[in-house]
Amino acid sequence: MSDSNLLYRLQEIDTTWDRVRRRLQQLQTLAGGSNELKTTREEVASTESNLQQWQRAQSEAEFESRSLTTKIQESEERLMSGQVRNPKELEALQSSIESMRRHKISLDDQSVEAMLKVEEFSGALVKQKGSLATLESNWQTKHKAIEEELQQRKKEFLYLKRLREQTVGQISPAAVEQYEHLRRRKNGIAVAKLEGDICNACHMQVPTGIVGSARNTDVLLYCPGCGRLLHRE
Ligand SMILES: [Zn+2]
Repeated sequence: MSDSNLLYRLQEIDTTWDRVRRRLQQLQTLAGGSNELKTTREEVASTESNLQQWQRAQSEAEFESRSLTTKIQESEERLMSGQVRNPKELEALQSSIESMRRHKISLDDQSVEAMLKVEEFSGALVKQKGSLATLESNWQTKHKAIEEELQQRKKEFLYLKRLREQTVGQISPAAVEQYEHLRRRKNGIAVAKLEGDICNACHMQVPTGIVGSARNTDVLLYCPGCGRLLHRE
């Protein structure tokens, strides 16, 4: 096979290889999951953490309030018992009871606030977990398809790599160098097909003299419009 024909085959391999490479990159990004799924997972984690924080705050406030109730009761019993007679001591006891009552009111306020927050975050969590379950289940189906395609494309990628190596091995090094040089400069397309007398890369009409000599496939021909190698079947 002539260099001209082999270069065109190489171009076809490279074009397919580029397409497979782009798809592989796309699939690798897709395999990470959708942004919506990531955001919803983060939301659920954040709501769970908020919920736990408020549940802790609620039980702490309730525990403190209960132990304060016991302390207030004990102090009140002491006050009523008549055991304390010293006026200064009595006054101190009364003032301590009042201070404990004020503290208890504030603790009960905190407890109610925490309880409302617990309800709010529990409700939000139920909704978010529902959305997440739907997204995860859709993702499972999609993910399977993505993984299957990834495996298939990887095989194609390696097959094309081998095929390219074989093809390059049959072309003269000077022609391969020319091809690689054009591919870098011409947006990945080094060889254009001649359709009638039209270059299918730049759509320029190629002069008859050049078209005629394109029949002789031993000589490399260039499109005067875009500078690519011309191939005629
Ligand atoms: Zn051209």
